[in-house]
Amino acid sequence: MNSLRSGGCRDCGARDVLEAVAPEMHGAGRAALRPASLVARDPAVPLDLREREPGTLRTFTCRSCGLTDWHVVEPELVELPRAATDTPCPACDAPERRSALVPEVSNTVARFVTAVAYAPAFLGKNPNKPKGVLSVLVCHACGLAEWRADRPDEIPIGASYETHLVAHEAPAGPRGHPFRGAAGRAAGMRDGRCVACGHDEIIAASPPEFMTGVATVPMALSYGPEVRAPAGELSIYVCRSCGFGQWYADDAASVPIGGRNWTRIVGAE
Ligand SMILES: [Zn+2]
Ligand SMILES: [Zn+2]
Ligand SMILES: [Zn+2]
Repeated sequence: MNSLRSGGCRDCGARDVLEAVAPEMHGAGRAALRPASLVARDPAVPLDLREREPGTLRTFTCRSCGLTDWHVVEPELVELPRAATDTPCPACDAPERRSALVPEVSNTVARFVTAVAYAPAFLGKNPNKPKGVLSVLVCHACGLAEWRADRPDEIPIGASYETHLVAHEAPAGPRGHPFRGAAGRAAGMRDGRCVACGHDEIIAASPPEFMTGVATVPMALSYGPEVRAPAGELSIYVCRSCGFGQWYADDAASVPIGGRNWTRIVGAE
């Protein structure tokens, strides 16, 4: 089992996978959606969320356990710098990966980057104090985007940052490949141990999605047709040693499907 895009969950074995356009809020005054994208574009021009523009991001979520993978649409058509890693893609073994920051676009003036947490005082003052800046390692072949946090040991822990340390539950021992765990239920980042390096300090965070400069909503798989109803709220679990990040969605089974929710079930075209 590899990426959730193939229609099955490598952690719990469920076959029910939800695909969603990764929604990005933007717009001054009134929130609107556009697809999250690695390509810089004019945020004043809203896009049709059904578009499959190269560089846009899609999420694939297990509707049973919430495990979420991200994929970049047509990564070979996007100019990104080669990643400084020689590890092949964990989903398809392709050797070449590119690296990119993930732009966070809130309105026509503020552009910054996606991060694990932001300083609590940013509201109304300075939205640009990211902690644990996130980047993606993008497979040039299959588009899988693996998330990494920069300087994970400096990410602050505490309620005001919407971060906490995960209690250890997984026993120590040799680890499987992050995308090819043992048969049955594989241990995941939520069990308190890094699936990439085995380190046992895992930070759970709920990064905000910025709406209109300073107002935030939870990052979620869908906001509904009226852009008011976050469903499938996203959390990232980050290794405090290597920075590997894995996303999970809350209550993924409740995310509305189809139509203007910009979601569908994988394999149910
Ligand atoms: Zn699952
Ligand atoms: Zn790949
Ligand atoms: Zn790690």
